[in-house]
Amino acid sequence: MKKINIAIDGHSSCGKSTLAKQLSKYYGYIYVDTGAMYRAVCLYALKNNIVIDGIVNKAVLIDSLENINVSFNYNDKKSISETFLNSVNVENDIRSLWISENVSKISKLKEVRLKMVAIQKEIGKNKGVVMDGRDIGSVVFPNAELKLFITASIDERVRRRSLELKDASIEDIKNNLLSRDYDDSTRDENPLIIMDDAIKIDNTNLSIEEQFNLALSYCEKAMAD
Ligand code: C5P
Repeated sequence: MKKINIAIDGHSSCGKSTLAKQLSKYYGYIYVDTGAMYRAVCLYALKNNIVIDGIVNKAVLIDSLENINVSFNYNDKKSISETFLNSVNVENDIRSLWISENVSKISKLKEVRLKMVAIQKEIGKNKGVVMDGRDIGSVVFPNAELKLFITASIDERVRRRSLELKDASIEDIKNNLLSRDYDDSTRDENPLIIMDDAIKIDNTNLSIEEQFNLALSYCEKAMAD
C-alpha cells in the first residue's frame, strides 16, 4: 500500500485529534497535533508578558520566535505524543482554558504561521504523517492524498470539552469554542476552510469507533489509488 499524508482539519473540539491518533497508531504513521504548536507559542507569550490585558505585543513576539522551540516526544508509558516548549514538557499547561482564550490572537499572526508551517511541511516531506489542525489540507499539505474535514454540532462539542475541562463552566466553554470558530475561519492568514477535495465527516451522532471505521475506509481507498 502507498504511504500517504493524511490531512485532518476542522472546528475546535470536534474530535480531530482523537481520530488522528487512532489512524497514526493503526498505520504506524507520525502524528502531529499542530494546534499544540500554536498553543505552546501562546504559552510562551503569556509567560513572558508578551500578551498583556489580552493584547499581543507583536513586535516582541516576532523577535522572540527564534527563541521558541516546539517539539514532540513520544511517552511510551502513556502511549501519547507530548508537547515540549524549549525542552520543558508543557502537555498539560497548553490544554487550559487560559491558553484556549488567547491562542487565536497568536495563531493569526503571519510570522508565527510561517514558522510553524515550515516545520510541519518538513515533517511531512517523506509522507507517512497524520496531521490535524485548521490549514493542513489548504496550506501545509495541499497535495495530501487524503483530506478529511471533521465537524460536529456546537452542543456536542461543548459536552465533550466539558468532560476534559472539569473546572470550567459550560458557558465559558461554549463562548470560547464559538469565538475560536469565528476567529479561525475569518482571519486573513490561512483561515479554516473546507477544501473542495476534502471529505466532510459530521460526527455529532457517530461513536469514536464509527468515526474511525469510516475514516479507515477512506484511508484504504487513498492508499490503494
Ligand atoms: O486544535 P486546537 O484547538 O488545539 O488548536 C488551538 C488553536 O490553534 C486554534 O483555535 C487555532 O487558533 C490554532 N490553530 C491554527 N492552525 C492550525 C492548528 C491550530 O491556527 N493548523
